[in-house]
This record gives sequence, structure tokens and C-alpha cells, in this order.
Amino acid sequence: MGYVKFLGTAGARFVVARQLRSSAGTWIELGGTQLLLDPGPGTLLRARKSRPALDPSELSAILLSHKHLDHSTDVNILIEAMADAGRTRRGALLAPADALEGEDPVVLRYVRQFLERIELWDEDGTYAVDKVAIRSVRHHHGEVETYGLLVDSPEGRIGFVTDAKFTPDLPGRYRGCQLLVLNVVRREWSPDVDHLSLPEAVEIVQEVRPNLAVLTHFGMTMLRGKPWELAAELTEKLGIKVVAAADGLTVDAGEWR
Ligand SMILES: [Zn+2]
Repeated sequence: MGYVKFLGTAGARFVVARQLRSSAGTWIELGGTQLLLDPGPGTLLRARKSRPALDPSELSAILLSHKHLDHSTDVNILIEAMADAGRTRRGALLAPADALEGEDPVVLRYVRQFLERIELWDEDGTYAVDKVAIRSVRHHHGEVETYGLLVDSPEGRIGFVTDAKFTPDLPGRYRGCQLLVLNVVRREWSPDVDHLSLPEAVEIVQEVRPNLAVLTHFGMTMLRGKPWELAAELTEKLGIKVVAAADGLTVDAGEWR
């Protein structure tokens, strides 16, 4: 039985800086394989304080969509924790090249020795982590290299529409997802913003028609709009189950299969 657990649901700088919602990452277990997506600030703490506590030394891989702080602050400590507190060499890191190279890499060089392997996301790459197959989807998101993910496993297909500026090709890239997770920072659309707004997320959900859509990574305008009420309205309007994630929400595979 698989699940996706939202340790944190904060997006946008203000919500993260004030910790109005937790900025911890998303813990995923599929076909017995455990993965961690985007370990933002507070991820290790939230994982250990979870009930039941989540154990980083059982992770097979850490997936980093991009290097912005709200996604990557805890990546170094989690690499060490995945390697049993640095006592062994284990686990994989899948990340964009600019998180590891160039002027401002966020993954410290000394923790890289704890990893079994590092793989860089490609424009349209495929990656295997145990029984889980991951495809990278290149997003436009400011100046940093950013990827969304298509995750196939015995528990079906899950799409993680991470931070992205909306582009018309985006909905088609997530076709076939039974569970679709979308980072929806803003409630209203405005031009030249590097994040999805709610109307754009709706466009993606309508085209993909997943069994379940989960909205997360909220900025202030979404929080003021009461995301759970917005999600309930969308469920009604679209005839597709839409849920707004709260910190600690666990979605079981049975809910999207
Ligand atoms: Zn970002």
C-alpha cells in the first residue's frame, strides 16, 4: 500500500519565512520504496515528529525539483540522515545540474560522498529507483532549472506539478495521472508570474482528469481564500475530487486508484 504524505504545504516567501504553514517536503511510499520530494526548511524535524515517525535511513532517494530555498534547505542534512547519519554510503539524489554545479550549488560537496549515486534531471529523462520509474518534465520557473515529475509504480501514475510558470504544453505533459499534485501559490492569475495560479491549476486538472487532485504549496492569497473551501468548490464544479493539502495530510493509494 502506498501513500503520499505532505509534511508541509507552504509556498511563497512570506508564508515560508513566517512559517504560517510548514515548509517541509513531501514523503512518498510506493511499492515499498520511500522517496522524499523537495526537503524545504523543517523537513527532518517534521519527519521525525510525524506519527508514526518517518525514518530517513529508509529512503531510497531524495528528489529535488529545483534549488529554491523553500524546496532545498534541508537537502544536506537529509542526505546525511539517509546514509544512516553518514555511517554508510546509501541512497540516490536526483536533482537539477544547477543544484550541484555552477556559482551557487545548494548541495554541499562534503555530503555528496554519502550518496550511492547522483543523477541529473534531463529535459525528458527516465530514472529508476527500485520499482518506481520517474520521468522528468522540464518547467519554466524563473532563472533556476526546475522539473516536475511523473512517477509510475505498482500504485499507478502520480504527477507532481512542482513550481512552474503556466505554459500551454503543461497539461498534456501530465496525461494519465491518477493522482495529480499541484503547487498552487496564487489564487488570481496575473501576467509574468513564475508560479501557477488557481485558474491555471484548474485548467491542468480539467485536461488531465485525475481520480484525485491535491493542491499544495500555498502563498498568502490562497491561504486567505481558505484552500479547503476553494477545493470543495472545484470538486463540485469539475466533478473531479479536489483536496487542499494541510500540514501532515496523508493520501493513501486507495484514494487515487
Ligand atoms: Zn521555486
